[in-house]
Amino acid sequence: MILGPDRVIACPHCGFLARQHTLISGNTFGAILWSDGKREAPMLPEFPAVAKCHGCKRFYWVNGAEVKGEIELFGDKSKHVPKEWECAEPIEHLTIDEYIEALDSGVGTDVEKQRYLRVHFWWAVNDIVRGDSNAQIPTRYLQELKENLGRLSALLDERDPKDKIMKAEIARETGDFAQAVHLLGDVPANFRWVADKIMELSKKKNSSVTQLRPD
Ligand SMILES: [Zn+2]
Repeated sequence: MILGPDRVIACPHCGFLARQHTLISGNTFGAILWSDGKREAPMLPEFPAVAKCHGCKRFYWVNGAEVKGEIELFGDKSKHVPKEWECAEPIEHLTIDEYIEALDSGVGTDVEKQRYLRVHFWWAVNDIVRGDSNAQIPTRYLQELKENLGRLSALLDERDPKDKIMKAEIARETGDFAQAVHLLGDVPANFRWVADKIMELSKKKNSSVTQLRPD
């Protein structure tokens, strides 16, 4: 994995600076795939697409923010960069509560953005129980999660095999095992092993997020 320079960006609402890490190259070595579609790849980290500004506390999309400059991580340290760039804090992934807040704020202005927020909200909730069979999703998130998954499912396009599998996973995690099995019955061969794993879990009436491994 080769990290690129940090990019210094400005909040489009108030101009407050933040830092975004960049990647020159990475790979999926040692990656873990989960049934909800989250891939944890140590050599290919996913940087946040949405940020909560530390200045004005509003949300914005990293791609749409003005780039003020770059800070080399390993280059010539004597190369002068403004002090306020150095002080800019790295952008973090939103917390569960922040995803809820972001969705309410209307920052998800189109289908792709809505989808990003809803998928990442789901993953953030699943992170609580991911790989830990003793953990439980706090009851305060259950209603919000259910509503979110219903809306996310409506955004997915069954003609796309990845979307179809995600839709089936949502059905499985919300206890609609028959619908999950139905959706997974017909997916192209290159997605078959993932579909088969989720199908197996659905038939066992298992609704937990699960790590998927090819046989
Ligand atoms: Zn701001």
